[in-house]
Amino acid sequence: MPDAPSTDFYAAFVKSGPGSFLASRLGLPQPPSLRRYQPGKPALAGPVLLGGSGRLVEPVRELLSDYDLVVNNGGARGAEKLGGAVFDATGITNIDDLKGLYEFFGPQIRSLGNSARIVVLGTTPELIEDLDEHIVQRALEGFTRSVAKELRDGATAQLVYVHPKASTGASGLASTLRFLLSGKSAYVDAQVIRITDKDAEAPADWDKPLAGKVALVTGAARGIGATIAEVLSRDGAHVIAADIPAAGEALSEVANKVGGTALPLDVTAPDAGAKIAELVKSRHSGLDIVVNNAGITRDKLLANMDEGKWNSVMAVNLKAPKQLVDDLLAAGALNEGGSVVDVSSIAGIAGNRGQTNYGATKAGVIGIVDAYTPVLAEKNITINAVAPGFIETAMTAAIPLATRQAGRLMNSLQQGGQTVDVAETISYFAAPASAAVTGNVVRVCGQSLLGA
Ligand code: NAD
Repeated sequence: MPDAPSTDFYAAFVKSGPGSFLASRLGLPQPPSLRRYQPGKPALAGPVLLGGSGRLVEPVRELLSDYDLVVNNGGARGAEKLGGAVFDATGITNIDDLKGLYEFFGPQIRSLGNSARIVVLGTTPELIEDLDEHIVQRALEGFTRSVAKELRDGATAQLVYVHPKASTGASGLASTLRFLLSGKSAYVDAQVIRITDKDAEAPADWDKPLAGKVALVTGAARGIGATIAEVLSRDGAHVIAADIPAAGEALSEVANKVGGTALPLDVTAPDAGAKIAELVKSRHSGLDIVVNNAGITRDKLLANMDEGKWNSVMAVNLKAPKQLVDDLLAAGALNEGGSVVDVSSIAGIAGNRGQTNYGATKAGVIGIVDAYTPVLAEKNITINAVAPGFIETAMTAAIPLATRQAGRLMNSLQQGGQTVDVAETISYFAAPASAAVTGNVVRVCGQSLLGA
């Protein structure tokens, strides 16, 4: 997937010979190159160290049988750098046992290679009855987020909470680990993902996890939406790319490129849902994946904001994603076993000056996920959201230089993300193998300092 044309001249400079020399002499940040997913290439650059002594360590070994696993405290082999380290912390039930994290990871930190992955596995704290166990499982979050801030060279750390009754071989864990232990999660850092006890089937081919599925992507003519269309199609889905009629030409290009269908459509139109329902019922057997990506900004300080700016942002970013799902469900056009993925923003988590309208809608999107999780679960449909941070797009290229550069550097990976980083996360959520993954909001922000 091609990267967006970068306006990050600073990163280009510090990667050059003289720039790198100058940056190390002056102690300036030197953004690492992130290793991203390429079909057919190994998921990680080195072996994965597997440790811990909970209920998941053995199942994980089986789920990842095609990975190069190094087992329990063997450490990296010789001078070889680790591609990742997975620690099953579900066996930790009291405060003293937390030392297992210190003992496992401490000696390994210096052995982690470029874009290495740390994954801690725990049990969902709010579902644990025992008080001590609840407390220490919750403690895993502080450990993971802190160690993420200490890692270098593009390495990241994540925490996965698994339902206490989840069948351990279930594919929700497999699909989550395969996302996290690969370049697909290059710009996802210090996140917590919860896995339910629902079973799901693994795909016939992990490189085509969406095979046979029909996906709608709104706002697909450019930016993040165009890349989502490409990634979902690469992963095997037939993509219906929707965008406003004025974006028609760019939309057709995207649809042609991915062998999909172009659908000129304003998501705020009262009949938007009905039109999509008609298309998917007549040409396909319904819709499996809905990605509510279309979004706009109309920034102004609240004191100066006219009503139009408030209303238009509400209509596109919040009313439309809710209405679309309601209308598709009412029309019976959203298939059982399907998935909805909404696009929030860290502005909806941290807030942003000049974006009261936008911030409200993007927090509202998280509200949609919370409210619809149980409703959609009845129909075996998942709903999750991504919350991008600073992503290199036309939208962020328009930000004044100093603010733009600050936005890039204010995260643990010291750079902006690529549109593909958001798209990969969406494809992971959308996959049938992730049927046990619902109700999550994952930030794609390189562990931004904002709202963390
Ligand atoms: P973009 O402006 O490049 O693309 C948005 C697309 O949505 C455009 O093609 C536009 O025509 C389409 N659209 C707008 N209104 C529409 C409507 N009424 N009906 C149908 N299509 C409509 O923006 P982007 O940067 O690619 O952002 C995509 C999503 O990601 C948005 O929801 C945005 O809020 C969110 N986001 C972006 C960033 C970032 O850094 N770029 C960060 C956080 C969140």
